[in-house]
Amino acid sequence: MAMASFTQLSSSSSSPLFHPQITKTPFLLPAAKIGRHGFSFSLSLSRRSSSVSALAASSPAVGVNAPVTSEKSVRTLPFRVGHGFDLHRLEPGYPLIIGGIDIPHDRGCEAHSDGDVLLHCVVDAILGALGLPDIGQIFPDNDPKWKGAASSVFIKEAVRLMDEAGYEIGNLDATLILQRPKISPHKENIRANLSQLLGADPSVVNLKAKTHEKVDSLGENRSIAAHTVVLLMKK
Ligand SMILES: [Zn+2]
Repeated sequence: MAMASFTQLSSSSSSPLFHPQITKTPFLLPAAKIGRHGFSFSLSLSRRSSSVSALAASSPAVGVNAPVTSEKSVRTLPFRVGHGFDLHRLEPGYPLIIGGIDIPHDRGCEAHSDGDVLLHCVVDAILGALGLPDIGQIFPDNDPKWKGAASSVFIKEAVRLMDEAGYEIGNLDATLILQRPKISPHKENIRANLSQLLGADPSVVNLKAKTHEKVDSLGENRSIAAHTVVLLMKK
């Protein structure tokens, strides 16, 4: 899924981030603090800090407007789990970048950034674990700044946010879904690069790949998708 769709999805009222029921939960986000408008993330997102702070302050996001009576109600979770999914169309004339590695193929991803489906879904898994807005909100696809951007920029920002929140990668498991080309010759390169970008030991970064049995766009070499589950541990 391209970032535009993420933006559309996350701006809908059905997004868990903005679901009113979430405000009833007693736990707070790591590094959350109480401000004049309720809770806001104490994350410095450089030029994007204002947009994330605004999201936290102006919408009924996690913890916003939740009554806090004492420090006892503030509970930092020792572990946080996140899931990421992404899908891109495959079109002739574009490079196929997976996990920051250029994979020889007859087509690649048409996207605002470099279309790296694996890095995008890893970013979303980390952001999801932190309870933050998704990749489309933090890196809007209508911002010319991200046009053709290497997705390693997004990973580094997600890792920085994770670090600021006081978490580190426990382990990560990703699955690529594509019909062609075969990923096995490139798997270790991709895994090593992803581990390096995450600042994580390769032993905690796992990568799998499977075909889509020649059905639907994924199985007809017209799209590529990825799923990621990540476990973050409090440092
Ligand atoms: Zn994407």
